[in-house]
Amino acid sequence: MDYTESFDQAAEFGNSALLMMKERGIVANPNNFTVWFHYFSGQIPDLKRALKILLDNDQEFTEKRNQEIFEKFFTFHSEGVAIDDAATKAEAELTRILQYLGVAGDGVADYGKALEAFSGEISDSGEPESIKTTITNALNATRAMEQHNKSLEEKFDASSAEITRLREDLETMRHEAMTDGLTGIANRKLFDTELRRLAMLAMEEGTPLCLLILDIDHFKSFNDTYGHQIGDQVLKLLAMTLTDSIKGQDVAARFGGEEFCVILPGTALKDAVKVAEVIRTKVGKKQVVNRKTGETLGQITVSIGVGVFKYGEPLSQLILRSDEAMYTAKRSGRNQVMSEDMVDKNTLSFD
Ligand code: GH3
Ligand code: MG
Ligand code: MG
Repeated sequence: MDYTESFDQAAEFGNSALLMMKERGIVANPNNFTVWFHYFSGQIPDLKRALKILLDNDQEFTEKRNQEIFEKFFTFHSEGVAIDDAATKAEAELTRILQYLGVAGDGVADYGKALEAFSGEISDSGEPESIKTTITNALNATRAMEQHNKSLEEKFDASSAEITRLREDLETMRHEAMTDGLTGIANRKLFDTELRRLAMLAMEEGTPLCLLILDIDHFKSFNDTYGHQIGDQVLKLLAMTLTDSIKGQDVAARFGGEEFCVILPGTALKDAVKVAEVIRTKVGKKQVVNRKTGETLGQITVSIGVGVFKYGEPLSQLILRSDEAMYTAKRSGRNQVMSEDMVDKNTLSFD
């Protein structure tokens, strides 16, 4: 990142950052200092907005939250942008070189043609043989130059194609790093990133955001009965059902093992419960069939917990409440949807 502040400005931002950290009980380590320096410099508008919302809501800056803020604005995202930036610049540079070469090549070709015509004129006018030889030599030299340029151009073409291919590889790798290998939906890493992004957006826009956590019922015994491979097929089927049941900005992800989750931005708790109910019913109606043998393996069911985001809370708390609601659904007999407001608060423990 480039810093353009003057000596005095930088000192002012730095002092304000230290003061703020002291007031809020934030450890003045380099990461936190970076965050708060940028808050005062205003160089990253999204960061400024996010911190302002937290300050306005008098939220506590716990160690975990400070770390989340730093990671969001200064690690993963900026690395990704830097890679993209470098690749785009390299490609643009090569395209430019190719254009120059193309123009140079055209120039040489024109020059060759002009010389050829000139050589014809000289021979027609019956000038001494030596002049004709000179011109022919010049013509040959020009042709050699043209050939040389052409091979250079081909080489540049090849490297340009290679750079484009590398760039595509990079994009594929980034996509794969965010995708669950088995089911093809978002993985835990992308879920974390998206939840952070959408929660921030919800605070900015003053809209609700809900989270569903789903867990397959008695999946261990399903695996034990039909084998792990059939179990894997069921996980794919469930992922497909989730993808089919959501729309717009919603995000379905594999949380891990046989647990899935869905982020529902712009959705109030009662509506999220309805979405969860639709998913639960859809899953329960599907017959699991072994495609190879045609054998019907019965149904699977899911238990779903629904939580709603409280502005400014650490996202781990939203996940915990949704998880707790899911376990309450399990305890109440499975194949059910339970929202956080239906959970007996006495059974909750946050330690
Ligand atoms: P509950 O209703 O309480 O959720 O019971 P359960 O059997 O689903 O729960 P438990 O946590 O005891 O077992 C989860 C099982 O999920 C264990 C494992 O057999 C299965 N599982 C987890 N990940 C995978 C996977 O990637 N593929 C397959 N086939 N099975 C998995
Ligand atoms: Mg489980
Ligand atoms: Mg389970």
